[in-house]
Amino acid sequence: MTKCISILGSTGSIGTQALEVCEKLNIPVAAITANSSIDLLEDQIRRFKPKLAVAGTKEYADKLSIAVADTDTKISYGMDGLIEAAVIDEADTVLTSVVGMIGLRPTLAAIGAKKNIALANKETLVTGGNLVMNAAKENGVKIYPVDSEHSAIFQCLQGCPDKKLIKRLILTASGGPFFGRTYEQLKSVTVEEALHHPNWSMGAKITVDSASMMNKGLEIIEARWLFDVPVQNIDVVVHRESIVHSMIEYKDNSVIAQMGVPDMKIPIQYALTYPDRTECDVGVLDLTKVGALSFYEPDYETFRCLQACKKAIETGGTAPVLVNGANEAAVAMFLNGKISFTDIGEIVWNVMQDIQIGSADTLDSILSADLAAREYANSFVKK
Ligand code: MG
Repeated sequence: MTKCISILGSTGSIGTQALEVCEKLNIPVAAITANSSIDLLEDQIRRFKPKLAVAGTKEYADKLSIAVADTDTKISYGMDGLIEAAVIDEADTVLTSVVGMIGLRPTLAAIGAKKNIALANKETLVTGGNLVMNAAKENGVKIYPVDSEHSAIFQCLQGCPDKKLIKRLILTASGGPFFGRTYEQLKSVTVEEALHHPNWSMGAKITVDSASMMNKGLEIIEARWLFDVPVQNIDVVVHRESIVHSMIEYKDNSVIAQMGVPDMKIPIQYALTYPDRTECDVGVLDLTKVGALSFYEPDYETFRCLQACKKAIETGGTAPVLVNGANEAAVAMFLNGKISFTDIGEIVWNVMQDIQIGSADTLDSILSADLAAREYANSFVKK
């Protein structure tokens, strides 16, 4: 059970829900961080009285310092501030809910400072999986998944005496708003359509990733590192209702699933209360109201991002860093109207052909592969 928390990314969808969970469970909050949502950060400072609050830039930090001059909260900014929040003495757990691989360095810093990690920032494991998992082992810290699928597998694992008994991890995917469409049909979808997820309410980046199924691809890579299962033994099944959050198939073909209403408060709370469970402020799952649960094969041809992620983790080295970096840049370009929806998949697939893949053993090699992938994506429109 978490005694005191630092939340990296406290104003996003996961961060705000995590603060509600902390308030209910009386978990003190030592530090909070945001990129640009300064007004919300100010509200959170007044409500949770953290020792430290961090903004994305000096300009935001200066504004915030003036706004909360009457409080005892110290204000920092940028990557140095994120790392300061990650290693803050008071916290025993750091929730990483920033968007993108910007979370990698603070996560490594938190692990180095022997904090347990509640991991909601999948790009950290996608890009630095090897480094992060080795560092966690060396420092004797735990990484608790917050991603709903990985929380589901983690929960299903609680009844597993030996990992050798696992045959397959089965990640469920909602299929997003474009399930069943052809590649041709996807070419003309709008930003607004991509931002309309059928079951989950999330931030813009992950919602676009869900529409392209990049999110599921990233989750395959995340699962490979979190649970140390070979990628051939990780499958994806499209499950439209988002009730079964993922499953484990054991050696005897028995399948254990975790179910619940689609509400992130369950996985957030479990990551903070593990191994305990307490009442949670979410709806009760009434299967008679859900009626039927449906399952389908994913369409790897149409959703090229999903295929690219599978190939990337099979290839290894910096390949996952490249697909992730290319995707982060491509999604930003799509949201700004600079490229079409299917261009995202083209960029993410082609980056592995066009940029050399190296080893991902050091932070520097990861950061430079990430930069190369972003530059590659950003040059796409100029062609
Ligand atoms: Mg997920």
